[in-house]
Amino acid sequence: MNEIEVPHKAQRIIDLLEAAGFEAFVVGGCVRDAIMGRTPNDWDITTSARPAQIEQVMAGAGLVTLATGVKYGTVTVRVDHESFETTTFRADGSYSDGRHPDSVELLEHVDGDLARRDFTVNAMAYSPKTGIIDLHGGQADLSRRVLRSVGDPHTRFDEDALRILRGMRFASVLGFAIEPETAAAMHADRLLLERVSAERIWAELAKLLCGPDAVRILREYRDVIAVLIPELEPEFGFDQHNPYHAYDVWEHTLHALAAAKPDAPAPMRLGLLLHDIGKPHCLTIDENGRGHMYGHEKVGEPIARGVCRRLKLSRAATDEVASIVRWHMFTIPDTPKSMRRFLLKHGPDLAQELFAVRRCDKVGLGREQPEDSPLNVAFAKAEALMEEQLNAAPVFGVRDLAVGGADLMELGFSQGPRLGQVLRRLLEAVVDGEVANERQPLLDYARRLLD
Ligand code: ATP
Ligand code: MG
Repeated sequence: MNEIEVPHKAQRIIDLLEAAGFEAFVVGGCVRDAIMGRTPNDWDITTSARPAQIEQVMAGAGLVTLATGVKYGTVTVRVDHESFETTTFRADGSYSDGRHPDSVELLEHVDGDLARRDFTVNAMAYSPKTGIIDLHGGQADLSRRVLRSVGDPHTRFDEDALRILRGMRFASVLGFAIEPETAAAMHADRLLLERVSAERIWAELAKLLCGPDAVRILREYRDVIAVLIPELEPEFGFDQHNPYHAYDVWEHTLHALAAAKPDAPAPMRLGLLLHDIGKPHCLTIDENGRGHMYGHEKVGEPIARGVCRRLKLSRAATDEVASIVRWHMFTIPDTPKSMRRFLLKHGPDLAQELFAVRRCDKVGLGREQPEDSPLNVAFAKAEALMEEQLNAAPVFGVRDLAVGGADLMELGFSQGPRLGQVLRRLLEAVVDGEVANERQPLLDYARRLLD
């Protein structure tokens, strides 16, 4: 295949640069994706023009540019509200802070720019005028579905260790094999990842976890994962001493993760990866020789929070992961009232996610359960209950009540913490079905709480 359909906005930038006497190509992930028939996330452009020249050419055509990374040769060009990173051909120095190249050298030719790229399938450029420029065998590797580093993998991982994780990410997302020498270097050089910044790690790990082949990669590269999350290491080979579990804790975790729906978000997947992280710390063996891990969800929660903090997840994502670990052993609600309480406690989003997690956890047991087993019956019933409660006028917080603080003050409550307590009481009364979520019944109920 020699033709790539470049979107006309990106093509416009290429045309403008060429008309001004420069070389310009689309490059990297977009070329890879276009050849594979996938939709690229973004179209990056590489050019012989220097940043100031890019700005000048674009200004001449009335296009806005943003100086997003001039130090690294990058100018963002806006075409009809869409952004295109346009970068001068460059070679990167090493990443001693694990965050940015220490120095970049702007180049005259595209060859050096392709040589700095991480994997052969990511190291191709294209323009309609020139066709595909493939100096490292990217097309052959694409057709064989192989990930191979550009040049000696040890050298490349030493320059920037994030490439180890990027390789795992691409293998997971694209379903590719990793070429043996590249794979051996990933294992051997894994400790280099310790110097990479948390932000860069989580950005790649999140994508890895969401790839269709995440479990294959986690299984094959658990030694690398253990550099990023050493808290997982005690799970490897940890025997649960329990006939209900077919696997050790790590294998159970992988099977649970494999059962996640394709659209499950990254924090939920990290939550699944960490859900039993407390187990190895909680094993007791009973008189029948059977293992139990009582309280592992409580022990696991702070461990999971520690992992999220180190990886610098957002506050919301950290809470999501920690809640999954903390509550994955929840009692399955079996009445409308207990379901309303469950929804109130966790909120509708987390409540639904906890059910999804629980289903995965169940699959991860590795023991088939007939449709009419008590657990499956309880599950089906609870899911119907949840559906019913979510469809009935839902109340999840005091803000959903038909009365507010001002109404209570009119009744004679004074401002202060007591007001919040009364609203909370009203909320619980509504959730428990003692009073309708309507103005007058709520006011009558509240009046009885006046001291
Ligand atoms: P995605 O589809 O996720 O955007 P991508 O291949 O475009 O994948 P990006 O992280 O957007 O990946 O990077 C764009 C291109 O820049 C890559 O295809 C690769 O050629 C190059 N690149 C990015 N990061 C590195 C790195 N750490 N080392 C070497 N080359 C890199
Ligand atoms: Mg990209």
